[in-house]
Amino acid sequence: MQVAPKRLRKLATKLDSNDIKIGGSAKFAQVLGKVRTHEFNVFHLRQVTNKPLKAVFTHAVNDFGLGESIKLTPCKLDALADDLQAAYNSNPYHGASHAADTLQNAVYMLHKDGLGAALPPVLLFSVLLAAAGHDAAHCGVRNILVPAELEAVFGKQGSQEHMHAEVTCSLLHKSGLFSKQRSAEFAEVCGIVKQLIHTTDMSLHNEVNGYATCDEIEQAKEAHGLAYGKWPREAQLPLCCFLLHWADISNVARPIDVSAAFAVLLGHEQSPAGAEKGKAAAAATAATAKAAAAAAGAAAQAAAGAAVAAAVMAAARGKVKDPLPTLKQLLQDQELAAVAANQRNFMLNFAASTLQQLHKVLPKAAAEAQQHFDSNLVRWELIINNSSPAAS
Ligand SMILES: [Zn+2]
Repeated sequence: MQVAPKRLRKLATKLDSNDIKIGGSAKFAQVLGKVRTHEFNVFHLRQVTNKPLKAVFTHAVNDFGLGESIKLTPCKLDALADDLQAAYNSNPYHGASHAADTLQNAVYMLHKDGLGAALPPVLLFSVLLAAAGHDAAHCGVRNILVPAELEAVFGKQGSQEHMHAEVTCSLLHKSGLFSKQRSAEFAEVCGIVKQLIHTTDMSLHNEVNGYATCDEIEQAKEAHGLAYGKWPREAQLPLCCFLLHWADISNVARPIDVSAAFAVLLGHEQSPAGAEKGKAAAAATAATAKAAAAAAGAAAQAAAGAAVAAAVMAAARGKVKDPLPTLKQLLQDQELAAVAANQRNFMLNFAASTLQQLHKVLPKAAAEAQQHFDSNLVRWELIINNSSPAAS
């Protein structure tokens, strides 16, 4: 089902004028109208708004009726969406466009198999918020390159993921969406958001794949099939964690133009020059986190998360962040064959096993993703084979 264009145009006019480029509102409505589908293209959205994450987040929250069901004040929701958008560094890959794409894929899956309508509203809101904030303040480096100072604050295991979670919860607190009288709801959302974001740590890949067939889910399936609304919370939560993990890595199974753009951007971020930039950003983030944690004592992680969020947003002020990728230029620095080989290896060594598990819990979304996954794999193989010395 497509969303009524009228409603989308209303949202377009609600976003402040800086968000929408001149003449973009009809195109904006057209692109955002695909948010429930697998055909959504975040790079098309970037052509009409500088705030793709804000657009997808506010649209999704309202589309699921959460503004009413859990009483979210529109202007506070808007402020949270703005802060989430601003909390991303302009990394080639781990920026706000990747977050918007991850969130959109989560939204797509929640609709496709009917899970979204079946989840309790607080859990559903937590999934959307976790997807939107899952890489907030990412430094553009892998966890193995994270400085010891950052690990000292956020822990050695998944230090960046702990940071993303703390940043996201600090922004939720700042937004005031859950007032003092609603502190129990705030605590519940933060608890779920932290669990969800921690499971995007790639070193937990095999463990999180196992969530799809954990005892709680198997028992729920046996008793209720895929009527997710009848599942107990103990089964719904691991399913949501698993869903977010797949949403995070699922751009390999999107239509090829989206998939290829992300592959090139990731190659750029992980190039020697990209890694150097990332290491410098990570060192600055670590210094901010360390100073805030030292001053805060017991609430060290929460204080560090808030300080990191504030630093990223202050650095962003007045700058155009997350610039549109010019793929042709980026590709000049990279061998297409190397991009193709990296993509193929990631698909076979990581994404394939998650997709296989996805068929067991969200079969409709999995079937559509599988088609793209298979055809993309053939395309990457063709590029690799055509570039190998034996082919010339
Ligand atoms: Zn991510």
